[in-house]
Amino acid sequence: MRVPFSPPRMDKKMADAVVDTLYSGWITTGPKTRKLEEELTKYTGGKATVCLNSATAGLELALRWFGVKEGDEVILPAYTYCATANVVMHCGATPVLVDVKGDFNIDVSKIEAAITSRTKVIMPVDIAGMPIDYDELHSMLAKSDVRAKFAPHSIEQEKLGRIMVLADAAHSIGATYKRKNSGTLADISSFSFHAVKNLPTAEGGAVIINLPEQFDSLAVQKQFKVKSLHGQSKDALEKTKAGGWRYDITEPGYKCNMTDINAALGLVELERYDSDMLVKRKSIFDKYNALLSKYEWANIPVYKTDDKQSSFHIYMLRINNATEEQRDRIIDKISAEKVAVNVHFQPIPLLSAYKGFGFNMEDYPVAWKNYEQEISLPVFYDISDEQIGWVIDALVSAVEEVM
Ligand SMILES: *Cc1c(COP(=O)(O)O)cnc(C)c1O
Repeated sequence: MRVPFSPPRMDKKMADAVVDTLYSGWITTGPKTRKLEEELTKYTGGKATVCLNSATAGLELALRWFGVKEGDEVILPAYTYCATANVVMHCGATPVLVDVKGDFNIDVSKIEAAITSRTKVIMPVDIAGMPIDYDELHSMLAKSDVRAKFAPHSIEQEKLGRIMVLADAAHSIGATYKRKNSGTLADISSFSFHAVKNLPTAEGGAVIINLPEQFDSLAVQKQFKVKSLHGQSKDALEKTKAGGWRYDITEPGYKCNMTDINAALGLVELERYDSDMLVKRKSIFDKYNALLSKYEWANIPVYKTDDKQSSFHIYMLRINNATEEQRDRIIDKISAEKVAVNVHFQPIPLLSAYKGFGFNMEDYPVAWKNYEQEISLPVFYDISDEQIGWVIDALVSAVEEVM
């Protein structure tokens, strides 16, 4: 038996949606993308949505929209995918890393000490789909001495009057925190619809705008759309209408719009997301937890608390007391049984691109410990009970041999 890590669910409904779009006469950004934006706004309860070609593009557009540039600092967890840090680099700003907690999420109590007069944005990451401690974060940012440090240098920064919270919500569509949906927990949140994520459109992402009332959300949505399409005052659909040829370029924008082919997939998946995909993923997590809870070496993930419910994106297991070398050997043995597992994530200070910036892994001891013990197990819509059993057998014998 073979168990892949996370192939996307693909069925006739999705194939039909794509084929319909191909023959509809409109394949790039158009009515389906607009519809997906409306549906995501409804689904999250956010104020406005902009669909893009990735979560990364959403994060970068948000930083650029806020005016983040050289000399600015952006705080993010040491434990995340590189995208969170890369977008800060693209803007010429400095990523400032904060250690995480035993639940893999940023340690909010350590953020205040990292704030300086150069801090413009905090980018929390809802790792594996579990929301961070948003109330603690927002109350810390509301403190008068923290607000007093904020030194705005753009119109948007003036208007917000404090550090912006930009959630890397790549994992957390469908997650909740104190009954509020991911997408409404930060000023701006960015979802990923990449092929391995919970709601795949092949490639894709969306920003949910949830700024305070001094902002006109629809105007901000328009700004994001213009930025995502070369700074063009009209989108392709408007431009193509008879007589609609004239447009302006209002800024040297980017090119990261979503196509209607991707949006067609997103519409199918979003409609059945809560009733089908999330239910299925939770049942897989429940099965893994039930099978693993009897092993003392298994540090099984928490994906529901009184305040939080995960989107069940990644099943992040840890092997208690494993060293990095032991964990790697366990993975080799599991792989020999044709089970694909992964490690989420190699902390930012371990990556070659970031080593030169003076980050030191020893400064983030919890991130290191989480990393060296972590193994992510396969989770995908079509995984069978037999496959789940096979994964557990491969894992248990590997751990028993190595530890
Ligand atoms: C996948 C991922 C991203 C990037 O998503 P894309 O849609 O591929 O740009 C960003 N952050 C985290 C934590 C991710 O896992």
